[in-house]
Amino acid sequence: MKRIAVLGSTGSIGRSTLEVIRQFPERFSVTALAAHSNTGLLAAQVKEFKPALVCISDPDSCGRARTALARHAQVLCGLEGLAQLVSDGRIDMVVMAISGASALLPLLWAIENRKHVAMANKEALVMAGPLVRKKLLQRNVRLIPIDSEQSAIWQCLEGQDRSSLKKIYLTASGGPFRRMSPARMKKITVKEALAHPRWKMGEKITVDSATLMNKGLEIIETMCLFGVQPEAVEVLIHPESVIHSMVEFCDGSILAQLSEADMRIPIQYALSYPKRLASGRASFDFPAAARLTFEKPDHKRFPCLGLALRAAKQAGTMPAVLNAANEAAVDAFLSKRIPFQSIAAIIEQVMDKHGVMQEPTLEAIAEADARARTEASRLIQEKKWKQTRSS
Ligand code: NDP
Ligand code: MG
Repeated sequence: MKRIAVLGSTGSIGRSTLEVIRQFPERFSVTALAAHSNTGLLAAQVKEFKPALVCISDPDSCGRARTALARHAQVLCGLEGLAQLVSDGRIDMVVMAISGASALLPLLWAIENRKHVAMANKEALVMAGPLVRKKLLQRNVRLIPIDSEQSAIWQCLEGQDRSSLKKIYLTASGGPFRRMSPARMKKITVKEALAHPRWKMGEKITVDSATLMNKGLEIIETMCLFGVQPEAVEVLIHPESVIHSMVEFCDGSILAQLSEADMRIPIQYALSYPKRLASGRASFDFPAAARLTFEKPDHKRFPCLGLALRAAKQAGTMPAVLNAANEAAVDAFLSKRIPFQSIAAIIEQVMDKHGVMQEPTLEAIAEADARARTEASRLIQEKKWKQTRSS
């Protein structure tokens, strides 16, 4: 029995993880659940999965959580609560499904406490990839990717001689605006940006998929997870989202990982690794898929991809700055304070102002992150970004 802690259990990945666990009660048990403020859904999950520990990280929601949950589990609160949770001796594996930069500290604490990690969050790896890699080695901890592209690359590389790896093809659906004219892109609404053609995900990553920043973040995530340089990663738009990524070896041979677009597949493999469990799903219908197509990304219409590549090459504190500015800008877009196309413009200005520090400590990364958020907020408040549409 693998005893699992799901951090971010109320989110899209968290809920899918619990679906997988529900399907294999003889293999997985839930020892701990953590959410930010959604005490209602957390309470329903606690009643079903009966964890020993729960944590609500939003201090304002703690009182409500204690009232609702104290009879069922030990209730922890805030960041200190997360620190206590990931150090609990009853946990074998932590599923990191918290969104955004908030995952970084709990991730480092989980590794410090020698918990294996099933990793959905990419922002923490973008911010502090080299520090995370170092800590994984120091503590001899396994980090298994859940992000579908990273899971694909990891599966393609299993058992292979890493020195023969030539190139990684990172596939992307292209998002909902792949064919939209630049003039029409000026009028993109929040509702349109949240209508992803292939994947049902949390709001932040859905907007990232629409700007292609998600793929940019994944270039840096790939560098962290597989120790490659940005030049070795090529982004390919693949609208059918059947091939989740590919690796090319020095002899010209290419391996790809394919499946229907369903996050429960990489989540299940991360939980069951090295075993594969029969999920009962129907075999992939190749004739129905008909055609698999590929194209190059359009950097002009999707400048976020180029910004991420620039951050990947500049390295040091720049990826954390990219991530922080993106989080602030996406938040402003979602709350209709800026138009869609200002997301990239704001990130670029924040990056232009940043003096990169190489080999940063965790403190230097936190400081760069905070300064980037302050600068992004200042820019967001400027009148020129004023949202013209309200829908
Ligand atoms: P969601 O927004 O759906 O869920 C986020 C989860 O994190 C919720 O449980 C939320 O709690 C919790 N949370 C939010 N803020 C904090 C905080 N400050 N401290 C602690 N917990 C917090 O996100 P997704 O599930 O879509 O994505 C999660 C991560 O996985 C992201 O990093 C994303 O990039 C990555 N990912 C997601 C994929 C997907 O298909 N969704 C695919 C690949 C990667 P509450 O509900 O209480 O607010
Ligand atoms: Mg992905």
